[in-house]
Amino acid sequence: MKVVFVSSEIYPFAKTGGLADIAGALPVKITKHGIRTFAFMPLYKTVDTEKFGIKPINVKLDVYLNGRSYTFEVYKLIDGVSYFFLKNDELFGRDYLYGTPEGDYPDNDVRFGAFSYAVMEFIKNEGLNPDIIHVNDWQTSLIPVLTYYKYGWHDVKTVLTIHNLAYQGIFDKYSIERLNLGWDLFHMEALEFYDKVNFLKGGIVFSTAVTTVSPTYAKEILTPEYGYGLDGLLRKYEKKLFGIINGIDYDVWNPETDKHIYKNYCSFTLQNKDINKEMFLKETGLKDKSKPLFIFIGRFAKQKGIDLIIDSIDDLSKLPINLAILGSGDKGYNDFFESIKGKYENIFVKVGYDEPLSRKMYASADFLIMPSLFEPCGLNQMIAMRYGTLVVARKTGGLNDTVKDISEKDGYGIVFEKPEKHEFLNAISRAVELYKNKTTFEDLRKKVMELDFSIESTAAKYIKLYENIKYSREVKL
Ligand code: ADP
Repeated sequence: MKVVFVSSEIYPFAKTGGLADIAGALPVKITKHGIRTFAFMPLYKTVDTEKFGIKPINVKLDVYLNGRSYTFEVYKLIDGVSYFFLKNDELFGRDYLYGTPEGDYPDNDVRFGAFSYAVMEFIKNEGLNPDIIHVNDWQTSLIPVLTYYKYGWHDVKTVLTIHNLAYQGIFDKYSIERLNLGWDLFHMEALEFYDKVNFLKGGIVFSTAVTTVSPTYAKEILTPEYGYGLDGLLRKYEKKLFGIINGIDYDVWNPETDKHIYKNYCSFTLQNKDINKEMFLKETGLKDKSKPLFIFIGRFAKQKGIDLIIDSIDDLSKLPINLAILGSGDKGYNDFFESIKGKYENIFVKVGYDEPLSRKMYASADFLIMPSLFEPCGLNQMIAMRYGTLVVARKTGGLNDTVKDISEKDGYGIVFEKPEKHEFLNAISRAVELYKNKTTFEDLRKKVMELDFSIESTAAKYIKLYENIKYSREVKL
């Protein structure tokens, strides 16, 4: 079987969030199961071609849209998976992937539209002949539309994975013309969405199968509360919608081998996790090792429950805890967290994206907080548990599928229901209490380290899905 896998970000080449982690791990794992995999992403300015040995291959792709032509040069890296990086500096040679902290780049439709056409041209010119084209999120959602409608490859099956329904790629209606799509696609059953063009909607309509990243989120997005205007459409296509829980790559996230942490450890050498904590407190100026260390790592976006943290910050500063926050995102949130730097003795803040620091934090912490308003899957909680860090999470989406409250049988985390300040603070207090009970706390640490959140089982489910749709069997996962 041949699979073309397309994503706007792939770890370790470019990453803004969980999409990159999955797009990095899944092609590697399915390749190990004997599937020939060709992975595509744009060659951003930020990709370190030298470090990874990514080389040009003397192939040029011309795509015509927006009233002119765009040329992409193709770069390649073979490392089990065949990776192709499509380079056009006018579109992708920018400081950020999708936009600055002030907002999205206004020409994102042309950027990712041109990239999508370029992928199609490469597949055609090189005769790749894939059985499956697997795309991810709105950035690559035009590909199923192009596959079916523009290139007429009705035998090629397409899979769209929705990593986050809140981001749909919505543009003014003349995007239809800019992208040479034809006005016959501009209707309610195709790309039109409240008189605008919606990339993700096109992907949902034209894909053979649609997946999202946890079983709970697959149900949630059928409701108006989580559906972001597409719940009706998703209900219509419910038969081809599947929830496949993401996983993490246990080779990439492994406290036994992680080069960035202070001291490696496993579930039998948890005393070394304490050394990580000690060193981290020293490095960040936080005091008193006997207090539980809470961390938050993530995008500063409303979705992540940042307002709950901001509203509770004074209360958190008065609790017998240390708190370390690492993140970046919306300007208002960045400004707030910059403004509280050094204000509280027990709160450390770093605004920015810093993977080595994030790894030290996972290794050092006692608890990770994830007060998300919604969470399609969430990887942080899985990484945290892999590093023996317990999770305090809101009961939603993938968090609901991966964190079980200690009040339940075999529970190992702290879960709260409503995204409200008193519930959030109550959950933190429960964690503080749990921390005092050293035996239970240590047992739970060991337990979460031994749970299995690896990408292996995710990959197995995707392979099953590919096989079923390739032979058009009824899909059962
Ligand atoms: P998202 O909604 O952002 O995709 P996920 O939980 O699925 O959230 O994935 C987040 C990934 O990004 C994790 O690997 C996490 O460690 C990483 N991450 C998020 N913010 C930062 C940051 N500021 N610095 C380093 N890593 C980060």
